[in-house]
Amino acid sequence: MLRVTTMQAGPDRPSATETLLADLRLAAERDLVPLVRRIDEEGLYPEAALRAFGAAGAYAAHLPAGGPHGAADLRGAIQAAAEAAEHCVSAAFCMTCQATLAWMVACSDNAPLRAGLGPQIASGTILGGAGFANPMKTYMGLERIRLDGLRVVGGYRVDGTLPWVSNLGPDSVLAAVFGRPEGRYAMAVVRCGAEGVRLNEPGRLLALNGTHTRAVEFRDVFIPDEDLLADPIEGYFKRVRAGVVLLQTGMAIGHGRACLRLMHDVARPLAAANRSLDVQPREISDRLDALEEEVERLGGTPFEAEPAYWRCVLEARLAASDLALCAAQNALLHCGGQGFLAGAEAQRRLREAAFIALVTPAIKHLKRMLAELQH
Ligand SMILES: Cc1cc2nc3c(=O)[nH]c(=O)nc-3n(C[C@H](O)[C@H](O)[C@H](O)COP(=O)(O)OP(=O)(O)OC[C@H]3O[C@@H](n4cnc5c(N)ncnc54)[C@H](O)[C@@H]3O)c2cc1C
Repeated sequence: MLRVTTMQAGPDRPSATETLLADLRLAAERDLVPLVRRIDEEGLYPEAALRAFGAAGAYAAHLPAGGPHGAADLRGAIQAAAEAAEHCVSAAFCMTCQATLAWMVACSDNAPLRAGLGPQIASGTILGGAGFANPMKTYMGLERIRLDGLRVVGGYRVDGTLPWVSNLGPDSVLAAVFGRPEGRYAMAVVRCGAEGVRLNEPGRLLALNGTHTRAVEFRDVFIPDEDLLADPIEGYFKRVRAGVVLLQTGMAIGHGRACLRLMHDVARPLAAANRSLDVQPREISDRLDALEEEVERLGGTPFEAEPAYWRCVLEARLAASDLALCAAQNALLHCGGQGFLAGAEAQRRLREAAFIALVTPAIKHLKRMLAELQH
């Protein structure tokens, strides 16, 4: 299990992480649990819950202390997303998007942006996300940067489309990478209300319809130099990437716990038949414990630059995806027909698992990156 080790307090005083998780649980019971079916079936966006999680500190706990090059500890933020994912991966993924955006701003050398926009994102007052898939896949050689920037006085003019960015509304902010005319890439925060930005609906999805996922179209959008996170991005991107990937493990941990609970719920009534299944709750529980322990180890030092550390981060993210698929498939097999009903949690968990496994870095991307690290 992920232990509450961050910012430990004395025996009588709860640690900052314990307080965060206690507040988050209360907010989840009030603002998330009653809406889970509507989020899944109607694509309802859990805005009140996301703002309450921000007020509890869920998007601030992981930010580097004392400036972009200070120490950072991701474990509180990961545990917070895991708590939400025990109810609903859509909400947990929105939290991850928000925590990622806060991370990108807090790790930037742009001090005015950190001081201005940073606290509004970290508190959940301004919601948003990050277009991280396109640069990741570009660095893997699978894509080209989809946004083109033209240098103009005081900033860049940017054109192109990011096909999927989540947690976005008209008042949101996103972090996006664009190509520079002289080569290399820059990254900036972009206000969704800026002239030339359009948010287009991607069409009905298999799951995660409640995440306000949008295709973001840029038509001659002016990005002022004041909004640059990094230009060029190489050093910055390499520094933040482990944090971005590790933050995604929270949703998988909470999802795994939920699948395990489903298996335990039917263990007694369906024992006679379920005993014959290859995967028993004990296996899921052991794999979940191993994942939580590894994330606990890695989450305390997200700026470690050693290649061996990056490899462990990719392996943990891969383990999270593999576990999500295995846990959800077997939760459904254990629940049987009851789990197959529309509205049943087990079938929702299977659709959520597919998302955990295919969102960048998807299983195929992780295997590709890990294979490249061998050479
Ligand atoms: C619900 C949801 C939410 C998401 N939220 C975010 C987010 O917040 N931020 C973010 O950055 N990303 C987000 N994504 C995107 C996600 O991370 C993946 O990048 C996306 O699903 C595309 O991955 P892929 O597996 O299709 O790409 P890959 O299969 O890796 O393909 C790489 C590229 O190859 C090309 N390609 C792929 N298939 C074909 C084909 N059949 N024919 C021709 N060319 C092809 C395309 O250019 C493609 O982009 C989200 C996706 C979903 C479904």
